[in-house]
Parts: sequence; structure tokens; C-alpha cells
Amino acid sequence: MANLNKKNYDTDEDYPIMEGNRTFMAKNLTKELYRKLRDEHTSSGFTIDNCIQNGVDNPDFTLGILAGDEETYTKFAELLDPCISDYHNGFSKDQNHVTDLDVSKIKDDVLDENFVISSRIRTGRNLRGFCLSPWICRSERRKVEKLVSSALGSLTGDLKGKYYALPSLSEADQKQLIDDHFLFEKPISRHFTSGGMARDFPDGRGIWHNEQKNFLVWVGEEDHTRIISMEKGGDMKKVFTRWADGLKKVEDYIKQNGSEFMWNEHLGFILTCPSNLGTGVRCSVHVKIPLLAAIDKEAKLKEICKKLRLQERGTSGELTEAVGGVYDVSNLDRLGSSEVEQVNRVIDGVKLIIEMEKRLQKGESIDDLIPQ
Ligand code: ADP
Ligand code: MG
Repeated sequence: MANLNKKNYDTDEDYPIMEGNRTFMAKNLTKELYRKLRDEHTSSGFTIDNCIQNGVDNPDFTLGILAGDEETYTKFAELLDPCISDYHNGFSKDQNHVTDLDVSKIKDDVLDENFVISSRIRTGRNLRGFCLSPWICRSERRKVEKLVSSALGSLTGDLKGKYYALPSLSEADQKQLIDDHFLFEKPISRHFTSGGMARDFPDGRGIWHNEQKNFLVWVGEEDHTRIISMEKGGDMKKVFTRWADGLKKVEDYIKQNGSEFMWNEHLGFILTCPSNLGTGVRCSVHVKIPLLAAIDKEAKLKEICKKLRLQERGTSGELTEAVGGVYDVSNLDRLGSSEVEQVNRVIDGVKLIIEMEKRLQKGESIDDLIPQ
């Protein structure tokens, strides 16, 4: 809840320091708009100050905004719409998002396994009616955990698995799961701590996975759920097929139990960080490309990825360094294009990146392969 003493001060006296703040939040939150929004709140009590804390504390971030509930996106649309447009390639407030989970449209190229170590697709889903991680209270978080783990308990066959509440896992087991890229990190990064997403950790958090550990669900991290399919090698169509199948089964069960995922026609699936709106999909490969990465100390790789609408991360995910030339390369866009389009773009883009690495291995130029 907002600090009620705020009302004793003029909004201008409360305006954050925006000089040197590079976030889209700072760019779009003028003094005038802050004046208008400061004393507003959603029905759960989430305010504009709660929403922007992530960006006020981290002037170097890209977005600097987190939603505390589904209503944040409508209540504070005057700030969120332009930020969403800045982040998502000009996606306008009048546009509608498209969902397409049709497996038959996914390209069936298996990516060259001399370069691609593993393939993964994740999305986030949140349950309607509960606050999001920056604003969720303990009882809500525990209820979400119960609903989701019970839905997952209904999966059978290859998807049959088990839920492990984080407090029940030893430190050593947690570390092993993190090192093997299955489990999320402890929420100690600035992204989690400023804005409230690390509160009460590890209460209400956990991981569910099937026996083969190729279908996994994180509970209570940045979103209520992160639904993941992953395996060694470069067969993205296989990864997508399992992911779409598991996702549908979980959704069906959630619906049967009177609940539903947060979604609307304009923004698609509603996630905590506006960067994930739309499909919520991050389709990634771990790809070994030491030669391409060595050009201008990663600058060329970053430039190529951007042109291909891809993003590169380090070996252990966001804000980590690449080890042994292994990068996590994934789709950059999530809103305004469908799941199928985003995954196919990764397949095509990574094929091209591998082609470049092969040329460099032979000492040849890659100039003609670089997209304009
Ligand atoms: P996200 O939040 O999008 O799921 P993170 O960057 O936080 O992604 O990474 C989460 C974990 O998933 C990390 O351990 C990361 O190394 C792992 N990961 C991401 N892509 C792959 C992949 N293709 N193969 C294996 N592990 C992966
Ligand atoms: Mg993450």
C-alpha cells in the first residue's frame, strides 16, 4: 500500500530523480503524468510508485516497470502503453496480439548438434484474481502454489512428475538443479530485490518436473508459473511439441478447477514484466560459437543477434557471462508475433549463426551472411 503521508506533499516533491535514468519508464513518466497517477491505485492497492520502483532503483535497466496485478496494465496504461511500445518494436495501444500454438507450423530442421548443446522453450502464466509477484501476499502465494501443484499432479504418462517445494529441498539439491539449468536462481539480483519480487523467499516457491526432467514448471518465481520444455540437442520441434502439449493439459486442469490464466486480446498473456507480454515465450538454444563471439569482444555477435531479432545471454542465463564460448540465444520479440513465428525465427537465426561459425572455422569471411 502506498505511504499515506504522501498526501501531505505536493506530487512534484515526490517525483523521482530521473536525470541519467535510461529506462523507458523514466523516458515516459513526465512530471505531469506522475502528478496525474501518483494517488491512484488498482483495486488491490498497487500504486504507480510500486510499479516504477524497479526502474527508479536501477537507472541502467531497459524497462524499469513491474506489474503488481492484472489491472496495473489498464489502470496505469498512460505510462505502460508507451513503455510497451518502446520495448516491443512500436506495438501500439490499438493493436491486438496473436496466439498460435500450432505445432505443425514449426520448422522441423534439427539444429547442428556440433554447435547446439541444448534447446529450451519457456513461457510464463499467471492465475487470474491473484496479485503478481511484486505485490502478492503470502496467503495468495501459498494458494497459487497449491492450485498449480495440484494441476501438475494430474499429468500422466511421459509428463508424470513431482512437485518439490523449495523449503523441502536441501541447499545441495537446489545448487545441483541450478547448475544443471533446471531451477531458477535465488532472487538476489537487483531485478528481483527492487520492486518486491524477492519477498518471503523461499515461501510458496518450488519446482515441478517430470521424471525425464524435460518438462518443468517453476512456481512462485517472477511469475506464478514458468512452464518449460527442454532437452539436449537441437530438435526444437520436439521441444515445442512437448511444451505445447503440457501447457494445454495444465491449462485445461486449471480451467476445470474454476481458474484461468491472465490474458487479454490486446496484450496476450499477462506477465509481471512487460518485456514478457504477448506469448511469454523465450525459445533458446545453448550454442557454442567462440569464434563469432571473439569478433570485437562480442560486439559483432550482439549486432547480428539484434538484426535477427534475437538476444544473447551468458551460459547461466540473464546477467551471466558466457563460459567456453557457449551462449544462450533466444527470441527478442514476444508481443505482436505468435509463438510459432517466434520459435521459427530462432530456428532460422541460429542456423545462420552456425553457418557463420563454420565459415570462421575455415578462416573465411562472413560478410555476405550478415543481415542488413
Ligand atoms: P528465463 O527467465 O527466460 O527462463 P534465465 O536467463 O533466467 O531465463 O535462465 C534460466 C535458466 O535456464 C538458466 O539456468 C539458463 O542457463 C537456462 N537455460 C536457458 N536456455 C537454455 C538452453 N537452451 N539449454 C539449457 N539451459 C538453458
Ligand atoms: Mg529469468
